[in-house]
Amino acid sequence: MSEIEHQCTCRVCCDHPSSRTAKEHRAINRVLSTLNEKSRRRFVGLLALQRGRGSVERLSEITGLSRPTIRRGRTEVQKVERAGTAGRVRRRGAGRLRVIRFAA
Ligand SMILES: [Zn+2]
Repeated sequence: MSEIEHQCTCRVCCDHPSSRTAKEHRAINRVLSTLNEKSRRRFVGLLALQRGRGSVERLSEITGLSRPTIRRGRTEVQKVERAGTAGRVRRRGAGRLRVIRFAA
């Protein structure tokens, strides 16, 4: 368990450190520094779910967590979500993000 706050090195944080986006990235990392490994993974997994396509890569850059770790957290959050919504039937894998981009 690391309590060192990760510093985002994305373009926005480097070029515009006082921007809203840079502040948001610092806020995410501040919260993450207070969580244990499992909670950290799930928190970032939830953010990945909310942000959609390409978010795992972006969040990996922002948080320093590896992409497989974020994907695992995302899957765990989806499982918790399913378990908590009684009576709602979802097709297996229905909530998953599509990995393959179809050619136009
Ligand atoms: Zn950033």
